[in-house]
Amino acid sequence: MDFSKYPAEPFKIKVVEPVKMISKEERIAAIKEAGYNTFNLKSEDCYIDLLTDSGTNAMSDSQWAGMMIGDEAYAGSKNWVFLESTIKELFGFKHVVPTHQGRGAENILSTIAIKPGQYVLGNMYFTTTRYHQERNGGIFMDIIRQEAHDATIDIPFKGDIDVEKMESIIKEKGPENIAYVCLAVTVNLAGGQPVSMKNMREVRKVADKYGVKVFYDATRCVENAYFIKEQEEGYQDKTIKEICHEMFSYSDGATCSGKKDGIVNIGGFLAINDDELFGKAKEIVVVFEGMPSYGGMSGRDMQAIAIGFREAMQFEYIEHRVKQVRYLGDRLKEAGIPIVEPVGGHAVFLDARRFCPHLDQEQFPAQSLAAALYVEAGVRSMERGIVSAGRDAKTGENHKPKLETVRLTIPRRVYTYAHMDIVAEACIKLFKHKEDIKPLKFVYEPKQLRFFTAKFDIAE
Ligand SMILES: *Cc1c(COP(=O)(O)O)cnc(C)c1O
Repeated sequence: MDFSKYPAEPFKIKVVEPVKMISKEERIAAIKEAGYNTFNLKSEDCYIDLLTDSGTNAMSDSQWAGMMIGDEAYAGSKNWVFLESTIKELFGFKHVVPTHQGRGAENILSTIAIKPGQYVLGNMYFTTTRYHQERNGGIFMDIIRQEAHDATIDIPFKGDIDVEKMESIIKEKGPENIAYVCLAVTVNLAGGQPVSMKNMREVRKVADKYGVKVFYDATRCVENAYFIKEQEEGYQDKTIKEICHEMFSYSDGATCSGKKDGIVNIGGFLAINDDELFGKAKEIVVVFEGMPSYGGMSGRDMQAIAIGFREAMQFEYIEHRVKQVRYLGDRLKEAGIPIVEPVGGHAVFLDARRFCPHLDQEQFPAQSLAAALYVEAGVRSMERGIVSAGRDAKTGENHKPKLETVRLTIPRRVYTYAHMDIVAEACIKLFKHKEDIKPLKFVYEPKQLRFFTAKFDIAE
């Protein structure tokens, strides 16, 4: 037998959730009603839902069994004891604060670690992360390597920080004016691009030279570890757990959404090594999330997330995960569909600039492409371009990111290779009549994180 085509699912299916495709007329009506924003669609109206990999994961039988041993005590739940020790063991952190999801951790970290007017340096921004940094008076500066902004450059570890740029900003602004460096593994908006261990080591070195702290966004750290094992010299014989451990040994702590690599539906945490900062975090978590022994999660949720992270670090799981995403990317590439290269860990990003050359960025090409893909085959995707980037807080102008993309995000353990084939065919068909993708205009624009609930109409 030839097993080289792709790794088959390292699981069998115990429970199924039927899906169906509504008619094209119904899809046209549904997307119009949703204001051409896929976030506003009903889940039931979506045939293959690739909106996000966040909280859309399928849990294992062990995780479901774990749900049954939820200890719902208000304080000191045994599931918290298990989750705390699991995170310490897998990631090597000194202190852990549970939160209801990733942004809960971002809120706490930004509150305790940023003084108004300080700079936060990051490898490209993430929507909620930057929001919390700016809300606390931080000024975000992007220090990702330049190539990350170009969808066509196919190089490994495209999420790396430009260490020279990092050092020159620290020198120019003064180390006391840097709140911290925020290093995301992987970089979601760059296309799920990983960061190399070499880069993490160099970032640590420069940070230590100036006494600057480094916090990771650990949301997709297991996917990042897989890329290191696959592509970075010297890591082929290391386990995913060993690689994760080394990655976080170069950090001062991390924010993490359990809804991604934790393979659960809700949850997150903040990890901190510094005793004093941990003390402050514990004071704030009770205000926004709950007791430091549950942070907005139920006991059963904490049990599931702890088991989920252990499962995520099994090689067969993470290899299948990353290669299934790559399979979809390869089908599209073979057909000449413009995508962000190389394909990252959680999603394939269509390059809307090249997919819709007839549209200007201010006409929201990625937003319109996502809507058109839904009409084509009931596939729900998400805009990651000018709409997601929002407006500059000072000037009120649209941020104009170089990357104007539509994200096809693959939930963990949910869809099969046959579903990937259908998605690829839908994109290929749509590309043949791409001129039908129309310019859009806002009819409702929220002030914060506008992409979630905005509404549009065809601009003609
Ligand atoms: C999803 C995500 C977050 C926020 O986590 P939530 O659990 O959705 O609040 C932060 N950073 C990255 C990179 C993410 O993908």
